[in-house]
Amino acid sequence: MKFELPQLQYGYDALEPYLDAGTMEIHYGKHHQAYVNNLNAALEKYPQLPDMPIEKLLQSLDALPEDIQTAVRNHGGGHFNHSFFWTCMRSPKDGGGGEPQGKIADAINASFGDFVKFKDMFSKAAAGVFGSGWAWVINDNGKLSIVTTPNQESPISKNQKPILVIDVWEHAYYLNYQNRRPDFIAAWWHVVDWTAAEKNL
Ligand code: MN
Repeated sequence: MKFELPQLQYGYDALEPYLDAGTMEIHYGKHHQAYVNNLNAALEKYPQLPDMPIEKLLQSLDALPEDIQTAVRNHGGGHFNHSFFWTCMRSPKDGGGGEPQGKIADAINASFGDFVKFKDMFSKAAAGVFGSGWAWVINDNGKLSIVTTPNQESPISKNQKPILVIDVWEHAYYLNYQNRRPDFIAAWWHVVDWTAAEKNL
């Protein structure tokens, strides 16, 4: 089975002015596509491997042939993480951003105190990722918690259930924000899809 880029549910310019169209086009069309291509290239070495969804592959890294484990961790993780990231965002003209409502708001309040505290903790975690990586909200046995992963490692590999993610690799923001990662994180809150986060609960 060949993995493919998932369809984006919005146009490259849908997240403007917070995430610019140029960054989206390169991030999705070049960076994410490269993870997909490199993952497929690694798996092509072992056509006898059973077809597995990406989640299952990332949960079975140790069982894969040794010479493709790193490629699947990096490029398979890159494919899963980006696929998930795109679904966590929505145009601010179409309900993106603002404050969470309903069940996702209840879960955030129960786990972190209130939305303001959560937003601050998550922003600090994302800003504090050293080098390239991701900040996640995961569902940890019914309680939400914040974790970060380096490079393209994914909480899926530890059987953790992701709820929300932000990509803090420089390629996610460099064109528009240069080295100002905290400005990118502040802008990203305007495009969070709380409806998607609630579905992930
Ligand atoms: Mn990325």
